[in-house]
Amino acid sequence: MKTFKIHTFGCQMNEHDSEKIAFLLRERGLVPGQEGRPDLFIINSCAVREKSVQKLYALLGRTRDWAAKGTVVGVVGCVAQLEREKLIRHFPHLRFVVGPGSYPSLESLLERILKGERVVAARWEGKWWETGGALRQKPAVAYINIMEGCDKFCTYCVVPFTRGRERYRPLPWILDEVKRAVDQGYREIQLLGQNVDSWRWEEYRFWHLLDEVRKVPGLKWLRFITSHPRDFTREIAEVMAEGEPITPYVHLPLQAGSDKILRLMKRGYTREEFVEKVAMIRERVPNSSIGTDIIVGFPYEEEEDFQRTLEVVRWAEFDNMYSFHYSPRPFSYAGRNLPDNVPREIKRRRLLELQALQAEIQRRKNASFVGKTVEVLATGRSARDPEAFMGRDLTYRVVNFQCRRDPLGRILQVEIEEAGPHSLKGKVVHEPSR
Ligand code: SAH
Ligand code: SF4
Repeated sequence: MKTFKIHTFGCQMNEHDSEKIAFLLRERGLVPGQEGRPDLFIINSCAVREKSVQKLYALLGRTRDWAAKGTVVGVVGCVAQLEREKLIRHFPHLRFVVGPGSYPSLESLLERILKGERVVAARWEGKWWETGGALRQKPAVAYINIMEGCDKFCTYCVVPFTRGRERYRPLPWILDEVKRAVDQGYREIQLLGQNVDSWRWEEYRFWHLLDEVRKVPGLKWLRFITSHPRDFTREIAEVMAEGEPITPYVHLPLQAGSDKILRLMKRGYTREEFVEKVAMIRERVPNSSIGTDIIVGFPYEEEEDFQRTLEVVRWAEFDNMYSFHYSPRPFSYAGRNLPDNVPREIKRRRLLELQALQAEIQRRKNASFVGKTVEVLATGRSARDPEAFMGRDLTYRVVNFQCRRDPLGRILQVEIEEAGPHSLKGKVVHEPSR
């Protein structure tokens, strides 16, 4: 039997696309390969930052050996959509390049690829990509797509060009998949989309969708990513306030704290509006937890603008943060029209300063969990201590914990004993009975 492997770069959307591709491959009789060289090797690429593209090129270089020995190597995902034939020109050992635009035809494309044809496909088909299943990789957590693409065109961002215009998945299909996943024993559902809040179907809006999904019998936890500060409404917060299964976590990217930079980024909100949104969430959603993304060193960001970002970060006390230094992206407005004029060294220093401030905030907030008992969904082994396990709590905090019996896939009570800036540590109150 033929084997396949998929290497995935990037966000949860990519991880889930890989799960859907794996499902289609298994339907065609291929099996996931374990050790060594597979018969088919797919790289699911990410284009959002320069660094992820460089990692892709490095990995592609290393796949030449496998290709020489007979492995069919191909690239899917966002870089495939952008570069198409160019990728094959640079890496002639590639047998196929398929971008998200062509995923709705992936089944017939796979047939051709498996027959040995060379395939380049990245045409926008505009349809919803439905596979009928996914070979899920995470124990207990099921990713479920609700929308795809983005119409916002933030000036730094390549996503509208790699994922296309917004498409929304019909409510009945979403509910069906949620029910199936819950029946299969998945404890947590994560609804995925570049801007989940702009989901719509007939007269339904995102808050209706949340309200429908939360009623699925047996569902334990429900999360959704990513929210956009402009589209996250009071109605959404009010449904969240109903509590479990909806978890109180909102991923709400700030990107920058100065109005000048927000305008240049075309984010569609001011610093004041962002702050009001955070206050609204805190007021309405009990025990709310808010994560964010920030870019430093966007064109024309001066020290004063950066200080404004720090001010918002200090005020908002986010529960987690992903921070990046700006890199110009192809097709994006800023990449084409604005000079990348903040020196590397300054970007680096600002990023370090921002991260140090956030680490301090997280250390302080996490310390308040010591002595408390929290519910944790166990999803894997701890990264640092192979004897310990890891999972996340309702607020999306990483919790490492000791447990004698295998806890994977269960929601356990964990007493928190220690806290660092990036995780909590504790022990299970009751060992799982199994
Ligand atoms: N849809 C989400 C984000 C998608 S991209 C949103 O609207 O926020 C994920 C994150 O990558 C972004 O939040 C941003 O912080 C970062 N990012 C995107 N383009 C970037 C660029 N050109 N340089 C640096 N970081 C970037
Ligand atoms: Fe990119 Fe902005 Fe769309 Fe997010 S909202 S995916 S940052 S263009």
